Amino acid sequence: MTILGTGDAFASHGRFQSGYIIEGPGCRILMEAGPTSLCAMKRMDFKPAALDMVLISHLHGDHFGGLPFFLLEYLYESPLRKTLTIAGPRRLEESTWRLFRTMFPGIKPDLDRLVSKLRFVVLEPGCDVKIGQVRLRAMRTPHMKRNVSLAFRLAIGGKTIAFSGDSGWTEEMLPFVAGADLFLCECTYFESTQLDFHMNYPKLDANRARFDVGRMILTHVGREVLDRDREVKLEMARDGMRITV
Ligand SMILES: [Zn+2]
Ligand SMILES: [Zn+2]
Repeated sequence: MTILGTGDAFASHGRFQSGYIIEGPGCRILMEAGPTSLCAMKRMDFKPAALDMVLISHLHGDHFGGLPFFLLEYLYESPLRKTLTIAGPRRLEESTWRLFRTMFPGIKPDLDRLVSKLRFVVLEPGCDVKIGQVRLRAMRTPHMKRNVSLAFRLAIGGKTIAFSGDSGWTEEMLPFVAGADLFLCECTYFESTQLDFHMNYPKLDANRARFDVGRMILTHVGREVLDRDREVKLEMARDGMRITV
């Protein structure tokens, strides 16, 4: 895994927003496409057209707002030679195109050849699906009120990676991630423990032993956590970090 971005929506402390490249046998996935993900990917010399799948946890801009830049890239700079699957919650497809048309109006005539290379897949909470080389499970997280936000569990190349997406604390996360080799867990807050739509560090620290995972890494870290990073005892992700699972 190569971590492109570990920041929150505010790009706290200048960190890039969510983006993770997962490479397994015959499969290259971009999990989350924040507005800074294409930039981070090019800095790290990854080829955007080499992706097989883009996985999106929910329809907040720091997680899917980078998709129009990828689509523009595929139109003019890096044409797709194979089908790219874009998987995520309901309304991802229409939301992506609406955002694209708003950001880059008037280029519809070129779109048809791109659309034929894209395959949008809806992931419902509780799903257990095989997409290419990946077995993928999704769980609904307490984060958005009306829209669905998801956590993921991916089995790829004999390894299991779990990802919280954005989520408030929920006991359901414990069995969902149990047995994973790697668990990437969001940790947006430190002292704002009253906010129930994101994780906070004291709660995660107090419950670390209850997560039955090989390695747990905090990500999507917010200003409060970064301001107090000397007090953080759990492993924290950094932009550009490479992890072999
Ligand atoms: Zn977020
Ligand atoms: Zn969010």
